[in-house]
Amino acid sequence: MSKVYFASARARKWHYEDSMPGKLERLLKEAGLMNYFSPDEWVAIKTHFGSDGAHRIVRPVFLRKVVDALRRIGAKPFVTDTVRIKGLDYLEVANQNGINHLSVDAPVVIADGLYGRDNIMIKAGEILGQIAVASLIHDAPAMVVCSHVKGHINAGYAGAIKNLAMGGVSSSHRTCGWKCGRGAMHTIGEGELVWDKEKCELCLQCRDICPLDAISFRDDVLEWDGNICWRCGRCERVCQNEALTLPGDDDRFMRALAEAAKTVVGTFGPKKILYINFLTEIQPECDCMPMADVPVMQDIGIMVSDDLVSIEQASVDMLLKAAPLPESMASEQQISQGEDILGKLHHRPYRIQLEEAERLGLGSRKYDFTEV
Ligand code: SF4
Ligand code: SF4
Repeated sequence: MSKVYFASARARKWHYEDSMPGKLERLLKEAGLMNYFSPDEWVAIKTHFGSDGAHRIVRPVFLRKVVDALRRIGAKPFVTDTVRIKGLDYLEVANQNGINHLSVDAPVVIADGLYGRDNIMIKAGEILGQIAVASLIHDAPAMVVCSHVKGHINAGYAGAIKNLAMGGVSSSHRTCGWKCGRGAMHTIGEGELVWDKEKCELCLQCRDICPLDAISFRDDVLEWDGNICWRCGRCERVCQNEALTLPGDDDRFMRALAEAAKTVVGTFGPKKILYINFLTEIQPECDCMPMADVPVMQDIGIMVSDDLVSIEQASVDMLLKAAPLPESMASEQQISQGEDILGKLHHRPYRIQLEEAERLGLGSRKYDFTEV
């Protein structure tokens, strides 16, 4: 049974040791970084830089603590993420969200190049076939996966599996295009975006959110450029009138996430990845969106484990005990304590991610929980 170390977000004493950064330091000591990383080894710290407007990410102070802990054992950390928008713009998003070399004391680099096309095709599984893993993540000898736990309109629950799957894979491959990128998880077949004119109120949110300008309107008619579209699904998600559909299948999507996560993990040797889940600022949506709603539940704490499935299961188990916060999307939808808040918000079968990850050998849903 794998160990999951946990520290609560509550601070009951006026000591640094009782702060969340102080507790993260203790968690990393307990986990024993020397067991995973060597002196002079480059270690990727994979996080999500957020978006222009999405500020509820893993805070830079926590990334700094991970960097400090890795430096103490002589390792060479760098902070990284794959691009959702063009790379230089994405680095500026990171900077604006407080993640830069000065704040985290390590280089902040894009994992798949300025255009998201620096990737390496890797054999995946029966759903995806092959997939474009970001070259920097592929080549890094070791990794700490820092995941912001939250909701997600498609995944229902978004933690470490999603951070690896969507965040370790590029949007597009030079020759294979979106079919070997994240879009292969989001959609099926040719991924043809369907617009329902009758339901459309011409709010233009879909056009404005598209990172590639693949949507335009002429004479109040939507025009979609399927040749450049990454099938990221953002346009479908922001349409509140259900006027846009990207064909998909929830069960397949969850299993594809697990399969992509396995593909990314497979580019590392055994015991070369450590997972840190931040159960903080748990908002309903993904950090890719151009906003962040208020949290739907209180900050819970931080978990560390070397078992992907264990840390995800422990995180979900904690979320299931949480109470909905007043004046949040959860209370608006009259969700009560004891109910599955993320499940009720998004109505997605998110547990399939964990079941499939376990089936694929990525870890165990049984875990040994230690509070630090
Ligand atoms: S977001 Fe939906 S309602 Fe708004 S313009 Fe696009 S398709 Fe129409
Ligand atoms: S799925 Fe929608 S938002 Fe994403 S690239 Fe295609 S058109 Fe743009």
